[in-house]
Amino acid sequence: MLCLSDSIRQDDLCVQHGLRAVEQAQTLTELLLAAWSLARVLAMHVVESVRAQRAQRPTSWPPCPGCGKRLRSKGFVKREVTSLLGVIQWQRRVGRCPKGCDIGQIAPLDEALGVQPHQRSSAELQYLGCTLAVFVPFATAARLLRWYSATSVSPRAVWAWVQAAGKRAIAELQTQLDEVARGEQPVPERLEADLAIAPLAIGADGVMVPFRPQAGQTRGKTRWHEIKVGILARLGQHRTRTGQRVTRLYHRRLVAVWGDIDTFKPRLWLAALRQGLLSASEVVWLSDGGRGLWRLYDERFAAHARGILDFYHAAQNVWKGAAAWRDGRTTQARRWFGWARHRLRHSAPDGVLGDLAEALEVETLPDHARETLVKVYEYLERHRDHIDYATYKALGLPIGSGMVESACKWLIQQRCKGVGMRWSETGFDHLLPLRLAWVNGSFDALFQLGPCTN
Ligand SMILES: [Zn+2]
Repeated sequence: MLCLSDSIRQDDLCVQHGLRAVEQAQTLTELLLAAWSLARVLAMHVVESVRAQRAQRPTSWPPCPGCGKRLRSKGFVKREVTSLLGVIQWQRRVGRCPKGCDIGQIAPLDEALGVQPHQRSSAELQYLGCTLAVFVPFATAARLLRWYSATSVSPRAVWAWVQAAGKRAIAELQTQLDEVARGEQPVPERLEADLAIAPLAIGADGVMVPFRPQAGQTRGKTRWHEIKVGILARLGQHRTRTGQRVTRLYHRRLVAVWGDIDTFKPRLWLAALRQGLLSASEVVWLSDGGRGLWRLYDERFAAHARGILDFYHAAQNVWKGAAAWRDGRTTQARRWFGWARHRLRHSAPDGVLGDLAEALEVETLPDHARETLVKVYEYLERHRDHIDYATYKALGLPIGSGMVESACKWLIQQRCKGVGMRWSETGFDHLLPLRLAWVNGSFDALFQLGPCTN
């Protein structure tokens, strides 16, 4: 590189200091840290000298957006941006309208470098800050970044980058939602041939997140809001070392939103279309008993997917029936429950329903027990088409909605429900799309990083 020899300026105090630190380093760690520090100073010189070179080239002035007159140079003005290497400065020509239109200063070099007019930190620093914020609190992200970039980065700055990147993700999603609402078909994501023929599983659930009482307020009672989470994945069979066949999720995609079913519906539908809902040979819908989500299934997915009620949720309800019917934790209740659970699992739900119906005919049944039994009966009957567990097992399909629960844990619990954590609405709304983008493999596209990164 041409500028490299010029850039190692021995007379620079920072370089001298860095070289001395390297010389004096005793341990390997000291040596590495000192060398890294020096490397950063040198890298900064490389960047600055390239910038200085480019700033000397003749500037081609664009016409004024107001009057069309060609802009006129007002000479060199200093520009500063905080980057991964530290604070970098450069001089570049700025131009104004010769007729005095109110367009401010225009800097063609900044534009060529992809630096926005009011941008104070560079894209790669924001990228790293947002990546950290996906996993750790803003204050921790700022601290790690300070250590890494040797510049002062405040938690507030990281928060603001997350807001900006979150806005880009939200706008991108909105464009896609609008297209589907207009009747356009989204382009399905590309899949490997063996995955394209695998069953597509769709599941959904809600998870509660603690919010601050009011925007900007930290005092007062925590408000809990439900976040709806959807997961879409291809089901693959995997053989373990002991020869067992287990179902594994491939090409996992998540959807999540703070809002009601109507807000969630188009998002899940869009994701389902992109994951091949219309072309998959088999589609299964997995959910526990939440009524709203089953209504969503009936309305939107029933025509394309086989509904499966989470087996553990169904069994739990059967236990409620057993406890009410046989009056608590008696041996009888447990025995019946064990038997009913077994029959449910091996696809004789009609027997279980029959037993419950028979119990309801006993005139001496206490009212509270009757009430519970009616509820359990109605529940199982409502889901009569979603509880043929032996059939699902034979087809290699899951019977539990565990994949939904683990998605909720990863997406929401892990980052949003830390000890003492309470969210502002804007804070949460903009971080969530970044976590989603991360897990869905679309995170890097939110940042203009150029062709070198992957
Ligand atoms: Zn003008």
